[in-house]
Amino acid sequence: MRKPFIAGNWKMNTSSDSAKALASGLAGAIDSKLYDSVEVGVFPPMVYLQTVANALAGSKISLGSQNVYFEGNGAFTGETSCEMLKDVCCSYALIGHSERRHVLGETNELINKKVHAAIAAGLKVILAVGELLEEREAEKTDAVVKEQIEKGLAGITAEQMADVVIAYEPVWAIGTGKTATAGQAQEVHAMIRALLVEIYSQEVADATRIQYGGSAKPGNAAELMANPDVDGLLVGGASLKVEDFAAMIEASV
Ligand code: PEP
Repeated sequence: MRKPFIAGNWKMNTSSDSAKALASGLAGAIDSKLYDSVEVGVFPPMVYLQTVANALAGSKISLGSQNVYFEGNGAFTGETSCEMLKDVCCSYALIGHSERRHVLGETNELINKKVHAAIAAGLKVILAVGELLEEREAEKTDAVVKEQIEKGLAGITAEQMADVVIAYEPVWAIGTGKTATAGQAQEVHAMIRALLVEIYSQEVADATRIQYGGSAKPGNAAELMANPDVDGLLVGGASLKVEDFAAMIEASV
């Protein structure tokens, strides 16, 4: 019922040439039949979005940005609007990634404004949530993730949830090589789905895709994806190699 979604977050990596090569390499490596059962997306650096859009022309790979600003235009130096993203063929915006929360200081309130702006502009959203190691050790995982979802989605209607994907990314697992076990991932994903029932309805909860992110790689993709509430992967490091990312896409169907 929920089509798995495997998304690659390239973070602040690649160059104009390597972004183009990665995008076209990926487009060529994925068997076109796979798109019937899995959605694939890439999230390059802003400055290479147009280059990647050109390289992906004619492919079914979705394009997304790693960030967006909530204002439409004006004196917001360094920021990128939803319309600008649509202008370079983005259909998704990744919002609330842990590096933006914890390195760049984004709050749940700012993230919520971005989610509203993106959906209002016709973009789909990946809302990323996840706890720090100390929060997990203090048994605060559920409370932290719950607050991030409640505040991040405040005011988003059941209808608008059709444009929202949630990514559960335990911060201690991102870029560290430490993956959450399949059981740890399933536990939090099930909690998130139950929360969506409470906030919205069983129907919305059943339809919303929840990705796992945090050192996902070819060797653990199938095991993570075998969880009933894991509907995709948000992949950082392993999305920078065509063969690794392609292997994870194959492992997810
Ligand atoms: C990410 O950037 O969202 C991520 C999960 O990174 P990595 O796969 O490298 O841990």
